[in-house]
Formats: sequence, structure tokens, C-alpha cells
Amino acid sequence: MMIEDKNLVIGCGLSGSVIARLLAEKGEKVLIIDKKSHIAGNIYDYKDENGICIHKYGSHIFHTNSEKVWDFIKRFTDLNTYMHKVIAVIDGIETTIPFNINTLYDVFPESLARRLEQKLLSKFDYNSKVPILEFQKQDDEDLKFLAQYVYEKVFLHYTTKQWGKIPKEVDGAVTARVPVYISQDNRYFQDKYQGIPLNGYTKMVENILNHPNIEVKLNTAYDKSYSKFKRIFCTGSIDEFFDYKYGQLPYRSVNFKFETHNCEFYQSNAVVNYPCNYDFTRIHEYKYYLNDKSDKTVIAKEYSEFFEKDKNERYYPIVNNDNLALYEKYKKEIPDNVFFLGRLGDYKYYDMDKAVERAIDLFEEINK
Ligand code: UDP
Repeated sequence: MMIEDKNLVIGCGLSGSVIARLLAEKGEKVLIIDKKSHIAGNIYDYKDENGICIHKYGSHIFHTNSEKVWDFIKRFTDLNTYMHKVIAVIDGIETTIPFNINTLYDVFPESLARRLEQKLLSKFDYNSKVPILEFQKQDDEDLKFLAQYVYEKVFLHYTTKQWGKIPKEVDGAVTARVPVYISQDNRYFQDKYQGIPLNGYTKMVENILNHPNIEVKLNTAYDKSYSKFKRIFCTGSIDEFFDYKYGQLPYRSVNFKFETHNCEFYQSNAVVNYPCNYDFTRIHEYKYYLNDKSDKTVIAKEYSEFFEKDKNERYYPIVNNDNLALYEKYKKEIPDNVFFLGRLGDYKYYDMDKAVERAIDLFEEINK
């Protein structure tokens, strides 16, 4: 059998593009394929007819504490200084998510808010982040009331909409992504580096892929005819790679319903969560990210649903013991020249910076 002296990367998303670039810079030839008709995977964005940069697969905000990741990304794009905030509408009141000390004053009468603030500060360190499942363990009557309020108003319905399960049935790391924050910091992320690529994520990925050793082939799904490469880096789902021989790995998907409105702004913030009303989880308004000027605005209402093959996209691995066991069963079948990475390849809920870091680490590992 002829083994091509080339690397194959499956998937032109962030993980695939980064590993392709690193290999290319080392002098390796790379073919990168994607079944989609565009590069950039789920971070794909485009400018619409109103000049608004739309994140087709939902809002993406780059944030990291890693110098290594930030330095890598900065080689391919400049970023603005956007710091993400999320507003939630709770009982008709706009307030901040994560639930923090300022939220107390938005949703409760001042005297109650002050009492709760004092109790919180006597129990928790300032700036500590407490996962809701931990926060529920309170002895004090006031804090018990607060914990029940936050659970019910912020987490219960949102999580049920997002995962089809109540918070304690979902992997604890998922709800812990949005803690109760004993702070007055209204930002969604506290990372040192945050921003949106000034020319969009698609352009950033295009720049990553722009190397003489990289060949990009779109509208191309992996099949056995591509198995003769020196090495294969797969950022797709492992069950698909192995033809679903042990069954499907479950994912959540998302359906975005886009609307264009004839007004400058639809809502007060890029993302507004609806943790206790409606069937959608949140509304994205894209012009906020790059401060796009238009007398129209484009929004997307986000509806969560199960992933179904050939019907929608994979977005979120559903991490639980059964699914991890299935992943491990597939993992045992991985040949020596095949490597999996990325949110789908590793079946891990990576943020963008973790996806980049994983690709860099894998590259360093195979070059040891
Ligand atoms: N979450 C919630 N209410 C909110 C925001 C988040 O219950 O208003 C929970 C929910 O379970 C969600 C998880 O926290 O899936 C993580 O939220 P995050 O915003 O990090 O999700 P992503 O932006 O990655 O979809």
C-alpha cells in the first residue's frame, strides 16, 4: 500500500487549522479537508448585507489566560478590547450573569440586598466563584432563600432548556462555568486577554491556513480513500470516524432563528439570557461585537435541541459516565498514526483557547 508522505487533517475548524499550521511550519505537507462548504467550522462568521458580522454558529468571544495561546492567535489577527457581559432578564428585570453582588441590588429591595451581601461576604472570600450545586448547601435561612432563588431563576429552567435535564443531572463542570460570583465584576469572563478578531474569525482561520505547505479541500468528507496518509489528525467526532460501529456519541445541537429588525438596536447587550421565560435560551445581537454601524440590526434566538445526524450540527458533547465509556471504547481502536483533537475529537467542552492549547500541546507531544 502506498503511504502518502503527507498529513491529513479532518476538519477546517479552529483545532484543525492550528494543528495544520504547526505541521506546515515544521516543513510537513498537509491536506486539510472539511465536509462543509466553508472554513472555520463553528467559529465561522461573515459580513451580511448590512455590514454586520454574524457569528453563524452562535456568539464567540475569545478569552484566555494563556500567553502561549494569545501569542499564537495574535500572529493571525488583531483583536479589539471587547470584554463580554451577559444580561439576563429575571422576572422582567435586566441584570447581570453570573449572578453577583450587583445582581442582589437589581432584583431585591435594598435592605434585603444589603443583608444578603453582608452574609455572603462573611461566608465567602471576595471574588470567589461558587458553583450553584455547592452554593445550594447553606445553613443560614437568608442564604438558603438566596440559593433557592438563584437556582430557580438562573439555573433550573435555563439548564433544562439547554440540556433537557435539571442541573444535578448535568456534569457539574457545565453549570460551574457560570458560578455565583462573590464580586462586583460584571464581566462574563475574568481572563487576562479577551477580544473579537477585528476582521472576523473566518479571516483569522484563513490566515492560519495560508501557508504554502497547506492544501485546503472543502465539501470533502473523510472516507477510507483518505486513510493512506502518513498521519491523520481528526477533529471530527470519533464515532463517525469509526462508522458508528459501537453506536452514536450523543451531542446537543443548537438552532438559531435569525431576524433582521429595522431599528438600530434590538436589546441592550450582545447577549441577553432568558433563564426563566420562553423556549429559547438567549438572544444574540451581533453588531455589538465589532461595533458595526447600520440602521438595521440582526439578532438570533437560540434554541437548544438534540443533535441528529444529517439534520443539524454537533455543538456540545454531553459528558456523562455512559457517554465517556463509549468514547473510551472507540479510543481503544485508534491506530498509532491517527490523533484526535478538538471539541468533537476529544469529546470535551473546550472553549476556543483550550482548543488552540490542545492543538499546540498535541503538536509538541508528537515532536518530542
Ligand atoms: N447556565 C444557566 N443559566 C444561565 C447561563 C448558564 O443555567 O443564565 C448554565 C447552563 O447549564 C449552561 C451552562 O451554565 O449550559 C454553561 O453556560 P455557558 O454560558 O458557559 O455556555 P455556552 O456559552 O458555552 O453555551
